[in-house]
Amino acid sequence: MTNPHYPHLLAPLDLGFTTLRNRVMMGSMHTGLEDRFYNYAKLAAYFRERARGGVGLIVTGGISPDRRGWLLPFGGTLNSVFDLWNHRRVTAAVHQEGGKILLQILHAGRYGYQPLVVSASAVKSPISKFRPRALSEKGIESTIRDYIRCARLAQRAGYDGVEIMGSEGYLLNQFLCARTNLRTDKWGGAIENRMRLPVDIVRRVRAAVGANFIIMYRHSLLDLIDGGNSWDDVVTVAKALEQAGVTIMNTGYGWHEARVPTIVTSVPRAAFRSVAARLRQELSIPVVASNRINMPAEAEDILRNGDADMISMARPFLADPDFVNKAATGRSDQINTCIGCNQACLDHTFANQRASCLVNPRAGHETELVYAKTSKKRRVAVVGAGPAGLSAATVAAGCGHDVTLFEASVGIGGQFNMAMRVPGKEEFSETIRYFGRQIELTGVKLQLNQRVTRDQLMVQGFDDIIVATGIKPRAPRINGVDHPKVLSYIDVLRDQVKVGQRVAIIGAGGIGFDVGEYLLHDPEVALPVPLAHWAGEWGVDLNAASDSGNGGLVAPKLEAPVRQIYLLQRKTSKLGASLGKTSGWVHRATLQRNRVEMMSGVSYDKIDDQGLHITVDGKPRLLEVDHIILCAGQDALAELMPAKKSTSGPRFHLIGGAALATELDAKRAIREGAELAARL
Ligand code: NAP
Ligand code: SF4
Repeated sequence: MTNPHYPHLLAPLDLGFTTLRNRVMMGSMHTGLEDRFYNYAKLAAYFRERARGGVGLIVTGGISPDRRGWLLPFGGTLNSVFDLWNHRRVTAAVHQEGGKILLQILHAGRYGYQPLVVSASAVKSPISKFRPRALSEKGIESTIRDYIRCARLAQRAGYDGVEIMGSEGYLLNQFLCARTNLRTDKWGGAIENRMRLPVDIVRRVRAAVGANFIIMYRHSLLDLIDGGNSWDDVVTVAKALEQAGVTIMNTGYGWHEARVPTIVTSVPRAAFRSVAARLRQELSIPVVASNRINMPAEAEDILRNGDADMISMARPFLADPDFVNKAATGRSDQINTCIGCNQACLDHTFANQRASCLVNPRAGHETELVYAKTSKKRRVAVVGAGPAGLSAATVAAGCGHDVTLFEASVGIGGQFNMAMRVPGKEEFSETIRYFGRQIELTGVKLQLNQRVTRDQLMVQGFDDIIVATGIKPRAPRINGVDHPKVLSYIDVLRDQVKVGQRVAIIGAGGIGFDVGEYLLHDPEVALPVPLAHWAGEWGVDLNAASDSGNGGLVAPKLEAPVRQIYLLQRKTSKLGASLGKTSGWVHRATLQRNRVEMMSGVSYDKIDDQGLHITVDGKPRLLEVDHIILCAGQDALAELMPAKKSTSGPRFHLIGGAALATELDAKRAIREGAELAARL
């Protein structure tokens, strides 16, 4: 039956020998759980929730076909019968929920962060300190056999197929591109030689697994690096892969070393759909659209328009495992949207920690963080409707507690109300929408414009009082800090105070960078930034012109900055070092492009009518600016907490920025709120 809400997205996909229940694919996302055999029960629970939530096809995190292909030492494997038992737990869980699952075979090549790394040629990657060894002819043959063995074992483990990872700059990309393939034998040179390895792997895997097993290939449509493949080469490879036996063509954009963002929140939604659409015209097998598709409306539109046959989303299923069921039953307004922050997923993966999700701390912790219905209903007051308070209130109410949420201001969301005003961070408004809806659904009694005192709370008979009152911006002790030129980031982001053309920002943490980007936005350009403008800024050819010979890179359009900005910190380290690993470079690049002068090792001497007087490298300097904006961190606001612990009366709890302002962090705030609520 056709789904009335998303008829294209939720239509089955008939592959001839098997049918997927809908067009929604949970793309591969490394969680870290797949790397240790003792975590497979947790991994199975994680995938079970996503399959139960209605996803049609799941792809596992990357599993290397052999030790040389490990991303990290002792990464996940499926290279012997002894691994089957673990993998069967995963496939059984998904099948019990009516889903299908592919094993992703990922050989990291020179991206491996381990000493055994190999590649097409001995060309070191900028993101690993290990120089790869060029594979010999014998080594290539044994690598192909390792892929075949892994695919066969995947079949025995109950997987419905495999995804062969051929994008993001991993081994197969390294063979495909002249940048990393300097070989002069039959595996290097012209594209027909460079593509020999991926095509041989697909052909021989197909021969080994038979016709009734899905082979998906993730193909890099835009490499976004110098020396990347031209569009004509991309199409030549795709056609050869189809001939070799690929069932479904997935798409990827940008090598990990590319300096063009492809998945962070500032990338416009569905930015690469036109490129997938171009490939679809060339092939007769289904093509999957991917990257920054995070809500069902965009996904439906892509399919309705004929731009793709399936939609891959990975992070959106960390944020909300029930995404598909909600879409299918007309409850899209209840979806917990992935905001593209990377803070708890990819940043964790790159730090070798278990992936989770900033807006859904249960992701990857399904067996450990359980929101069970309570048998002992408690009366709970939560004070402060920022991320920590919202999380605590809605999880507690969802567990069956009687929750009242007090908020001093006119609306919920706390610091997220400021974050969403920063260009490229508009997605943060989705989290406020989600919590607003959760408040209605779980029956939280929301009391806005209520600045409550401890005495008022004490007389209302609460069993628990959760203090989530957040922070106040820190006012640094600088001579002249009360000069009219001085503003706080709250004046700028929340109260929209008019700011002059020349600005000094004191403090280069996340908020200093955010304020910089906010002030550099050209008011003539609409928000969210239109796709064509974004592509121009970063120099991306989204039309995939057939003569575009540099992996989709074109010259960026540089415009004069709208303001002159100085970004300052006292530390001598690189500015932005505290920003996320996978997103910090994007912020730095944006500020550099706009010629922001970034200074470290600064001491602040005084502020007066002339501007900000500083000393750098022992030399005094005057920054003649119209405004100085303080982004110097925060102090906790926790006055509601009693000075002493009492054995009678309500239990007090302190969470979020109010508990630890120096590490004000939405990821910790939401997790703390949820964990506390789950154990009340
Ligand atoms: P932050 O990251 O702690 O940065 C505070 C900045 O103020 C630092 O650059 C610090 O550098 C400076 N500072 C501290 N005390 C000072 C003083 N007394 N006088 C002058 N300068 C001082 O805090 P934030 O920028 O307010 O961010 C708050 C939290 O939100 C952080 O956890 C951050 O990760 C998160 N956030 C992240 C992002 C992002 O990743 N894009 C965006 C927004 C917020 P010096 O001490 O070296 O001068
Ligand atoms: Fe999305 Fe951020 Fe969650 Fe990652 S941590 S899944 S980017 S919301």
